[in-house]
Amino acid sequence: DISKINVIFGEVTEILNRKDMQRPSVVTQQINGNDITFSHVSFGYTNDVEVLHDISLEIKANTVNALVGPSGSGKSTIAKLIASFWDPKQGMITFGGVNMQDIPLDEYNRLIAYVSQDNYLFNLSVMENIRLGKPNASDDEVIQAAKNCGCHDFIMQLEHGYQTIVGDAGGHLSGGERQRVAIARAILKDAPVIILDEATAYTDPENEALVQASLAKLVQGKTLLVIAHRLSTIANADQIILIHGGRVEAKGTHSELLKNSSLYQQMWYAHIQSKDTEEGEATYA
Ligand code: ADP
Repeated sequence: DISKINVIFGEVTEILNRKDMQRPSVVTQQINGNDITFSHVSFGYTNDVEVLHDISLEIKANTVNALVGPSGSGKSTIAKLIASFWDPKQGMITFGGVNMQDIPLDEYNRLIAYVSQDNYLFNLSVMENIRLGKPNASDDEVIQAAKNCGCHDFIMQLEHGYQTIVGDAGGHLSGGERQRVAIARAILKDAPVIILDEATAYTDPENEALVQASLAKLVQGKTLLVIAHRLSTIANADQIILIHGGRVEAKGTHSELLKNSSLYQQMWYAHIQSKDTEEGEATYA
């Protein structure tokens, strides 16, 4: 026990010793629109290993954008930088023309919803878990968000409906139900930019179609950045950004990349030969 405590103590101390993010507490600059840009951004989780190298890209408001590339290439890291979980080591990220580091975190959090495969549910009621998306929402607004993403029926079948306590980390719900509650939370938040970490594999196949339908509702009319593991879901995206070894290898539409990038060609042909591409698969664009 003492050796376990030592390890945990070391990890907690390391987190406590990290420097706080420097952000202003009040808005000082007008944010114009929802375009996001990276200009010569480099980043590493530690000082000695750089994970992203000189990334420049533009995500235009109200477009569908996909990050694709081999595992470990840096896609999630780019998404986490956009979500402002970390600051770049070099270069600048702007949102609506303003350096992200000049936007107060509260304000910034309103602009972005990050939906991943492992969204955390707290040991509260379903109602309160969804309400986290917009803390001052009324019960009616919460229920409306649940209805919008097709969650209402399964919630009403739970023992205490919206007042059902979901258990530690949502353990009383199935994987698919947890995902849909997390999506309802993001719908309620109604942020203009959605970052979506697409599931590699659904743990809960019977819920896959329902999850996909909820996601389609969530991303309607928004700026979408999806970390895509299944290329067929994003073949119609406005922009596909191919990341390889922490660099932007190529950018463009699906047909442009098929023409210009041998890596994308390889990934695409490997994908269409795999069993993932069953007919009727949902797409985001
Ligand atoms: P992808 O999403 O393309 O699979 P990631 O952005 O998750 O790639 O990872 C890029 C690189 O950063 C990998 O080498 C990975 O090991 C490293 N990495 C990811 N998260 C962390 C972290 N929290 N701490 C240290 N290294 C990390």
